[in-house]
Amino acid sequence: MKIYKHFRDLKIELSHQKTLGKVIGFAPTMGALHEGHLSLIEQSKNRMDITVSSIFVNPEQFNNPEDFLKYPITLETDILYLEEHDCDYLFLPDVKEIYPDEKSKNRHFELGYLENILEGKFRPGHFQGVCLIVERLLSEILPDYVFIGQKDFQQCMVIKKLIDLMNIKTEIVVCPTLRENSGLAMSSRNLRLNNVERELAPALFQSLNFIKEHIKEKSFSMLKEDRIRHLEDSGFKVDYLELALRGNLEITEEYDPSKSYVLLIAAYLNEIRLIDNLIF
Ligand code: AMP
Repeated sequence: MKIYKHFRDLKIELSHQKTLGKVIGFAPTMGALHEGHLSLIEQSKNRMDITVSSIFVNPEQFNNPEDFLKYPITLETDILYLEEHDCDYLFLPDVKEIYPDEKSKNRHFELGYLENILEGKFRPGHFQGVCLIVERLLSEILPDYVFIGQKDFQQCMVIKKLIDLMNIKTEIVVCPTLRENSGLAMSSRNLRLNNVERELAPALFQSLNFIKEHIKEKSFSMLKEDRIRHLEDSGFKVDYLELALRGNLEITEEYDPSKSYVLLIAAYLNEIRLIDNLIF
């Protein structure tokens, strides 16, 4: 695997590959890689000629400075994992490469409704930061496909919107969420869970499944109230637990069995904020 720190050098290499007719897949990450990230690499390897990944902990998408400072960094093992998975190129920029000056951070993306609900509501500015980094990476690397995880459902919708807004010629491939045996969605932040928290954390996904199983007999609002109480009694602090239409993320309380939905949850276990979702 070749590692590049500058867009300029990576672009020279990729444009050479493009002249050979190679199709390029890209999986951006913030590192502290786990099997969920590596499943994106695998999907790209299976379908593309060339796979590029990136590791950059993007300061602009952290609304909470403490969360940024405590974000896990495991670069040496990340590189080993990527090599084991035959990733072709790793882009490993520093902050100056991504944001050379203040102007490069002073941009605004018109995300509309998506920006002010769920993650957007509880993490103000988060999706503007996500758009800054994703737009920068896609517009420089120009991959044919970008591989992203359904684990961050709202982020997938935001990236789709960004690609439309900026007229970027990259297609999105949304990959399923990888889970521990306990059902807990894999996440870099899980590295920060202690043993007790790790035992408790699968309750998030269990709550989503519980609602899915009972939504035909009971109202969503009753189920929501019941599951929030249950989670808070076992030590969580729930930011949100919502039902939304899968296609446009419109939040609703009404369930209509002929439509496709997504349940979304975010909750703190002590200091650590976890998110999950379930499509049905
Ligand atoms: P992150 O490093 O958290 O920014 O994630 C990088 C990419 O990996 C994003 O597209 C995430 O949605 C995806 N991802 C994170 N966790 C998982 C998971 N458990 N399963 C599949 N994809 C994931």
